[in-house]
Amino acid sequence: MTTRLTLLLAVLVALCWPSVARAADTDPVGGWPLRPEPAVVAGFDPPDSPWGSGHRGVDLLGTAGQVVRAALPGRVSFAGVLAGRGVVVVDHGDTRTTYEPVDATVSLGDPVAAGDPIGRLALGGSHCLPRACLHWGWIEGADTYLDPLRLVGAGPVRLLPLWRDEPVSRVVPMPYVAWRSPLQLFLLRWSPP
Ligand SMILES: [Zn+2]
Repeated sequence: MTTRLTLLLAVLVALCWPSVARAADTDPVGGWPLRPEPAVVAGFDPPDSPWGSGHRGVDLLGTAGQVVRAALPGRVSFAGVLAGRGVVVVDHGDTRTTYEPVDATVSLGDPVAAGDPIGRLALGGSHCLPRACLHWGWIEGADTYLDPLRLVGAGPVRLLPLWRDEPVSRVVPMPYVAWRSPLQLFLLRWSPP
């Protein structure tokens, strides 16, 4: 049993550690893809499974035609139309950022610096119709979705480890505190002769 618990803890630590370490030490510092700093109209809600529902990025309010900029330096790894909407993907090595819907002004393989224009915000395919907004994603490896707001220091404060989520104090409701068993009632009423 102890061995299994130790193993479970090791797995949990292994699962949690990379994201905690990245949040603490190695988040690259990027810039907002829209300027001035946009309103975040939908936050990051990663799916529980690769096929699960969720929101794999954040939505930044903008105006149609607004210039969209690379959040980090990198190289354009996709610029084109996917499922009817314009998409730009910039590769940063171990991660990549995605921007949609965007009419690209860059081409596959173009190097970009942080803040460089990569296209213009489109309306078709907006997650905020009838408003225009940029769906901004940040992906690590094959398909690990990260919160892109961490790139601009606007992400959630570092998450507490799971085992610290337990309530500090627990108030246990005791609705039956006044209830007494028949034996208790008998003993209460009974007086020795
Ligand atoms: Zn979105």
